[in-house]
Amino acid sequence: MTAQLIDGKLIAQQVRDDVAAEVAKRTAAGKPQPVLATVLVGERVDSATYVAAKGKACQDLGMGSVNHHLPANINQEDLEKVISDLNADKSISGILVQLPLPSHLNEERVLQLISIEKDVDGFSPINIGRLAQKGREPLFVPCTPYGCIYLLEQAGVKIEGANAVVLGRSNIVGMPAALLLIGKNATVTVCHSKTKDLPGVIRQADILIAAIGRTEMVRGDWIKPGAAIIDVGINSKPDASKKSGYRLVGDVNFDEAKEVAGFITPVPGGVGPMTIAMLMKNTLRAAQIQQGEI
Ligand code: NDP
Repeated sequence: MTAQLIDGKLIAQQVRDDVAAEVAKRTAAGKPQPVLATVLVGERVDSATYVAAKGKACQDLGMGSVNHHLPANINQEDLEKVISDLNADKSISGILVQLPLPSHLNEERVLQLISIEKDVDGFSPINIGRLAQKGREPLFVPCTPYGCIYLLEQAGVKIEGANAVVLGRSNIVGMPAALLLIGKNATVTVCHSKTKDLPGVIRQADILIAAIGRTEMVRGDWIKPGAAIIDVGINSKPDASKKSGYRLVGDVNFDEAKEVAGFITPVPGGVGPMTIAMLMKNTLRAAQIQQGEI
């Protein structure tokens, strides 16, 4: 292996420790505890698992959490009422609506309704709009892309002036990751399902953020020697040696890529732990904004 491993588990733990220390300091000073409200609609097992992990992280770090678990057939009006009530509730610091919502609900309208000062997922159109504008700052940076950039910075990868390729253009990962890299003065190419000659484009990348959800699609010979690889993908691959019958792998073929890249994140243990760590950081930030501290 030639690449340096970027240990997301370790870096996420450091972020969590910093947040916990700041929360303890605030609590000792008599300030209200940061509280995250999660809104879960329906019975998707993956969504319920993510929401439970977020609640547990709040508890571990000394923050409060409340979960609103709503029926899958809730109508738009009733869901919007829940959000409006959370916006008005002074005890709530941050609001997170677990996506995806059932298809009969208008996700855009729901995200738009979340008060910008409580939008800890950073998905409201105002936050994303600010991210896209030169010289403007969003109040909150979306958690997974924030984690990707944080990992690059912690590893000492130079972003300014780098050729960066973002593979995937989703609203929650690819597009905000590209905007963040542009804000840090990288030259950015965004690839998607219609991109021609993907290997050729990726071979130009000093930095690659892969977020497509395609099992080990990026091969070792697509990678520029010395490049920094951030693998966001989470895919299950059949593996008879595991009790579950599968193991988790990324969008990049790790075994091949690690022989060529300069830096690489593993899956699991790379970007995954960063998403919740950055959510905790954003929830603390929400409490600080609401108290007029920043
Ligand atoms: P989406 O399905 O929303 O978006 C996938 C993107 O990849 C789209 O832009 C799509 O292109 C592009 N794409 C799909 N197939 C190809 C292909 N063969 N070649 C080129 N581009 C392709 O996914 P998400 O952004 O939500 O998630 C991406 C991955 O990241 C998933 O594996 C997900 O599980 C993981 N993830 C991990 C998180 C973490 O915490 N570690 C958090 C969030 C996601 P087009 O736009 O043209 O359709």
